[in-house]
Amino acid sequence: MQKKAAEEKGFVPFERNKKYKAGDKVYVYNRDKAIILAVIGKKSPAEGVHLAAAHIDSPRMDLKPNPLYESDELAFFKTHYYGGIKKYQWTTIPLALHGVVMRKDGAKVDVCVGEEEGDPQFCVTDLLPHLAGGQMSKSASTVITGELLNILIGSSAFDDEDISDSVKLNIMNIINEKYGFIEDDFLSAELELVPAFKARDVGFDRSMIGSYGHDDRVCAYAELKAILDTKKPEYTSVAILTDKEETGSDGNTGLNSNYLKYFLCDLGECFGVDGRQVMSNSVCLSADVNAAYDPNFADVYEKNNSSRLNYGAVITKYTGARGKGGTSDASAEFMYRVRNLLDTHNVLWQTGELGKVDIGGGGTVALYIANLDIDVVDLGVPVLSMHAPWEIVSKIDAYMTYRAVYEFFANEL
Ligand code: MN
Ligand code: MN
Repeated sequence: MQKKAAEEKGFVPFERNKKYKAGDKVYVYNRDKAIILAVIGKKSPAEGVHLAAAHIDSPRMDLKPNPLYESDELAFFKTHYYGGIKKYQWTTIPLALHGVVMRKDGAKVDVCVGEEEGDPQFCVTDLLPHLAGGQMSKSASTVITGELLNILIGSSAFDDEDISDSVKLNIMNIINEKYGFIEDDFLSAELELVPAFKARDVGFDRSMIGSYGHDDRVCAYAELKAILDTKKPEYTSVAILTDKEETGSDGNTGLNSNYLKYFLCDLGECFGVDGRQVMSNSVCLSADVNAAYDPNFADVYEKNNSSRLNYGAVITKYTGARGKGGTSDASAEFMYRVRNLLDTHNVLWQTGELGKVDIGGGGTVALYIANLDIDVVDLGVPVLSMHAPWEIVSKIDAYMTYRAVYEFFANEL
């Protein structure tokens, strides 16, 4: 989706050792999962680039490599959840299936079921309250366990009464007819179950947006729009839309890998500049969401240091847990530069920590960028019900995050 939008705006694949000039637009695609978009600036990359990074993965349920089974004449997929979820929230909601399957003959099959009007959908079942006495006395973290996140995908038998697992066979037959793959092909597939809700206005005043995956697509969208709107900046603008943040940024499509570093080195090379010089002089906004203060759960927030809906983009100086473990803490000097930029360009902003010090914590991609010797701070949209199947943001905050990233690309810091 991002690639198509970029190509329509004139972005072309980046080529090593090519001569680029101000205003040129390039992208690097990483394994169909992550993308780097850049608009070449008037200054040499020797003076650093202005980076923004958001992640486009969200909590979900992935199919296991051997997903399909039948139990008492109902067919299911086994799943392995991805990212931090409260598992009980993922039962009894409509789910859609997305992903790719590589068939044995090498053909790549795109799968999307449950999003179009009239498509079938899927779900995880839960126990009726009438029989849930035992279940309800468990703690919330064990009410639904990982191995209970089984997706109901069928109930009717194949037209042959003599065979076992005929419901499973029927499902496989339908899948084969529709997508042309066989059960073994699940071994070379990446299929994911996500909530099938559409994004909608929330509230009588329509001041908010409810959607699956606001973390972090609400920031990724702001960032994408900002880079697409960037014409001929002073400094080269670079937007990274990355993968695997929700599982800790490891893997070759996550920001704990070298793909960003390689790009910045390659970009430098085009101008005869050492990659480390590009990095050391670069600055970055890590565009990720933060937890918005929720009066219904006031006891986990420290009011003076929490972000709120409608107060604008939230700058999170540091993330992490306990004694600032696992964090990148933006310096006073860098905070000053970002603050000054936002005030100069009338961007509404606020600061926020994730919650009370000893309650919990969280991380973003900021530390992986900081580890490249780049100045970085988190800036994004406050979210209610983060990591739930349906998350809530304010329209003002989403717009201000776009404005913040756009001005960051367009101006001296
Ligand atoms: Mn996030
Ligand atoms: Mn997250």
